[in-house]
Amino acid sequence: MFILGDDAQRTRGRDAQTSNIAAGKAVADAVRTTLGPRGMDKMLVDSTGTVVITNDGVTILEEMDIEHPAAQMLVEVAQTQEDEVGDGTTTASVLAGQLLAKAEDLLRDDVHPTTIVEGYAAARDIGHAAIDDLTLDDDVDDDLLRRVAATSMTGKGTGDANAETLADLVVEAVRQVADDDGANRDAVRVHAQSGASSGATELVRGIVSDTDPVRGDMPRDVSDATVLVLNTKLDTRETSTDVEYTITSVDQLNAALDAEEDELRRYAEAVRDAGVDVLVSQKSIDDRVAAFLADEGVLAFESVKQPDVNAIASATGATVVGDVEAIERDDLGSAESVRVERYGEDDLAFIEGGAEASTVTLLVRGSTEHVLAELERAIGDALDVVAVALDDGGVVPGAGYVEIAVADRIRDEAARIDGRAQLAAEAFADALDVLPRTLAENTGLDPIDALVDLRAANETGRAGIVTVGERGEVANPVAHGVIDPAAVKHEALASATDAATMIVRIDDVIAA
Ligand code: ADP
Ligand code: MG
Repeated sequence: MFILGDDAQRTRGRDAQTSNIAAGKAVADAVRTTLGPRGMDKMLVDSTGTVVITNDGVTILEEMDIEHPAAQMLVEVAQTQEDEVGDGTTTASVLAGQLLAKAEDLLRDDVHPTTIVEGYAAARDIGHAAIDDLTLDDDVDDDLLRRVAATSMTGKGTGDANAETLADLVVEAVRQVADDDGANRDAVRVHAQSGASSGATELVRGIVSDTDPVRGDMPRDVSDATVLVLNTKLDTRETSTDVEYTITSVDQLNAALDAEEDELRRYAEAVRDAGVDVLVSQKSIDDRVAAFLADEGVLAFESVKQPDVNAIASATGATVVGDVEAIERDDLGSAESVRVERYGEDDLAFIEGGAEASTVTLLVRGSTEHVLAELERAIGDALDVVAVALDDGGVVPGAGYVEIAVADRIRDEAARIDGRAQLAAEAFADALDVLPRTLAENTGLDPIDALVDLRAANETGRAGIVTVGERGEVANPVAHGVIDPAAVKHEALASATDAATMIVRIDDVIAA
């Protein structure tokens, strides 16, 4: 009996598992070589020829345009990791891939998928408890946060010389917007601007927007500015249906033009009468209105991007207004300073000291577009990890130490697990070794020797595969300032386990 259409393809049982596992592993393998400070970059070229050069796990996976549904689950692991904690995307994908590889061995030994799922879940729970115990009980002070930022940025095109400075700026940015409730990550914006090296990156206490004054004769620097934010065109009213006027005399023509002039003048006067110094509009501004505003000494920006418009409104306390002729006093915002500066070819507007909310912007500099794009991602990750370390309070030693220690703990406690699930838990512990092993490989060490040394060193102390300068060595990550937020490790453990077990559970693939 046929229950599926002619075109439907069905793969069942072991075949389905093998093919899904192979796809998942292939994805994890693709990002393996990028892990850690000495990880390599990838160059991705899309169908339109756009080039992205990156070391960032989630970016690679997203750009790879993966179609296989099981492989797609690994992309989702990376995305979840990015959304939840902002870093550790390569770690999570590599771990998921290795969990799949181990699951394949177990399936071959006739361990039932449900038993694997059970054992993996037990191992994961032991892992979470172990990470809690490994969390350093030091105060998460600025110094520690700087190390967290620097750890997440190493190997991401920041250049060693500037890594410290950038880490300082990242921590300062998050501190500026943190209060008793924690770090408000959304209040830190990043604006990338090419034309200088990363060392010229600066922290602006306000908003930076890629926009220039509507006219050259407008002021470029206004202090104690009253700000109007608009989301409507300052232009003659457009009729919604096509209307044709038949004009039969010069008088009628002049009257029509006068009416138009009047309308524009009313707009300009409304802005002036409201006492506005700076006008930020999401839409365009008619030349005649702009000329009038320039005469009145108003600094106006048009066609400003919507996210910038919203940020400016909330920072200055302005309401986004739709009708200039109905401005209320309350609608206006204020800022200590609004100024325009030239950066290479572009004008940038700086809105600083907004009355309402403290928003800060890291004005990230990089010499070329590709360097800049990678730097922007690295700084984004660094901001995320600092915020997460501050909020979810807690950091752990990096460089593969946590993974080795968690694996040890799972091996110790696996004996308590009944039946064959114990085998799966032990396989989970073995899978975790892939992280220090990969760090060793990527830093040029012999992975087997390095792992043996690492185990030995952890018998007596705390050791990881630490990269110092160009070389990797077995050393104490804390002493070398290699520190990750505990939340990143928790999330990687959780999301990798979820993806691997979801793939292992599938025994029937039906493609219509
Ligand atoms: P992910 O996408 O998982 O964040 P990364 O390429 O950023 O991948 O690598 C993160 C790993 O690199 C973490 O385990 C971190 O502890 C480790 N790491 C960072 N800096 C160093 C260093 N100097 N020495 C060794 N390991 C490091
Ligand atoms: Mg990272």
